Amino acid sequence: MSDSNSSQFLRLKSDPIRKAFHAELKGPAWWLGGNKRSSHFGWVDVFERSDGKCVYCSRDLAASTDALAESTEEHLVPRSLLEANGVKCDNEHNMAVCCAGCNGLKAEYLPPASHPCWKSRKAYIKECSRFVAECRLKNFQKYKSHVENVLKKRAGQ
Ligand SMILES: [Zn+2]
Repeated sequence: MSDSNSSQFLRLKSDPIRKAFHAELKGPAWWLGGNKRSSHFGWVDVFERSDGKCVYCSRDLAASTDALAESTEEHLVPRSLLEANGVKCDNEHNMAVCCAGCNGLKAEYLPPASHPCWKSRKAYIKECSRFVAECRLKNFQKYKSHVENVLKKRAGQ
């Protein structure tokens, strides 16, 4: 399991870097797709379209009011990249519902511009889901002994 593509995910740190990255992207710009923009159709519409499920982990955000409170609006391709290139970021196809946990892990990380997942929205989501899952695994590995200690203490062990 040494093939960790996710370690190739990038965080672009300045507008010149964002412009160079954007220029490298090839294929259909699916993130510009859709007839509407989020500023016109709103989060509720995004939520309904997604069937209330997190785009990355499929968590059911309609399952409870607590889950609903943790639901966020995700720009699949980060705003920072698109805005740095003068491109509207809230087109219909760039919007999705996302749980707060996944949104925090995904942050502004991106697959490399040469990655084949950029060719379609579906492939891009799949690759980002894998990245988020790997972030979760790393967090789990980092903190599992501490979580165990807390749970043992609570259980009186
Ligand atoms: Zn999620």
